[in-house]
Amino acid sequence: MLMDNDPQRLVGCWSAPQFRSYLRARVSDHGPRAGVVLDNVLLYDCHCPICRQRFREFARAYLGHEAQMPAEVNLADPLGRAARVFELCVARECLMELKGSLHAETPRRHSP
Ligand SMILES: [Zn+2]
Repeated sequence: MLMDNDPQRLVGCWSAPQFRSYLRARVSDHGPRAGVVLDNVLLYDCHCPICRQRFREFARAYLGHEAQMPAEVNLADPLGRAARVFELCVARECLMELKGSLHAETPRRHSP
C-alpha cells in the first residue's frame, strides 16, 4: 500500500499475515538483541480485504451492529472513532505478536 500517495513510501498491512511474517523475519535476521525500536509506527486507513472483513467483525462487537469500514476516519462520527480504535487494536495486536515471537527466541537476561 502507498503512504501519502508516494510510490517511494510503501507500508504493510498490520492485519496481513505476510506483513507480520515479514516483520518477524526482519527483526529475527539481526540475531540476539536487548530490544527493538520500530521507527515510523503509524496508523493508516488500510482497506484491504482482510481489514474490511476484520472491521465488520470488530464493528459488530464494538458498535453492536455490523458496519462497513468508512472511506476516511472522521473522529466526529462514531463509525470513524470505531475505525480509529480498530486501527489501534490491530497495530497493538501485531506489535504484541512481534514481541511474543522475540521473547520466544531471545532468552531473558533478567528475571521478571
Ligand atoms: Zn489491511
